[in-house]
Amino acid sequence: MRIGVIALQGNVEEHVDALSRVFDGEVVKIKHKGIVPSCDAIVIPGGESTTLCRLAWSEGIAQEIIARAHAGMPILGTCAGLILLASRGDDEVRKTGQKLLGLMDTTVDRNAFGRQRESFEAALELPFINNGPFDAVFIRAPAIISAGDGVEVLARLDDFIVAAKQGNIVALAFHPELTNDTRVHEYFMEIVKNQSEN
Ligand code: GLN
Repeated sequence: MRIGVIALQGNVEEHVDALSRVFDGEVVKIKHKGIVPSCDAIVIPGGESTTLCRLAWSEGIAQEIIARAHAGMPILGTCAGLILLASRGDDEVRKTGQKLLGLMDTTVDRNAFGRQRESFEAALELPFINNGPFDAVFIRAPAIISAGDGVEVLARLDDFIVAAKQGNIVALAFHPELTNDTRVHEYFMEIVKNQSEN
């Protein structure tokens, strides 16, 4: 199996490391079009969502991700990745001109936690992991502010949704790749294995 990490910008190496610890197949970095179609799953890391969006579309990677997602390919999006996956951003307010991938029926606020809480950690109870809460690292974190019926809410913090799943797509407002705890990546690999057996 082959997992791709979108490597246009952001926390790429950290995801590659985390995946390598829980998965013995191939992990590839995706900078150009032509690779996504051969991947069994992809990870969209955190970074700066406007830059990520712009590059994903201009490189032709966004179009490939959308096509594979419609065919059931699992995707893990963290932080800025959660923004890209959404259908609705906060463009109305901030006029960022972001063109999102629209793969989840979610509305996101790209800086939900504001300047006061630029970066923080929270112990999150996640329904898919055992053995205690997950130490979630939030950095200029976005959040899902509303979600359609097809979206399963996995975790909330304050009034926000910070982890959600729709079909084979998982979006997290935090950075599981920045801790040594690999339980979130293990969970994602379960989804990937189940999909490949179908
Ligand atoms: N808030 C950031 C953005 O709008 C995302 C932050 C992150 O990925 N660490 O792009």
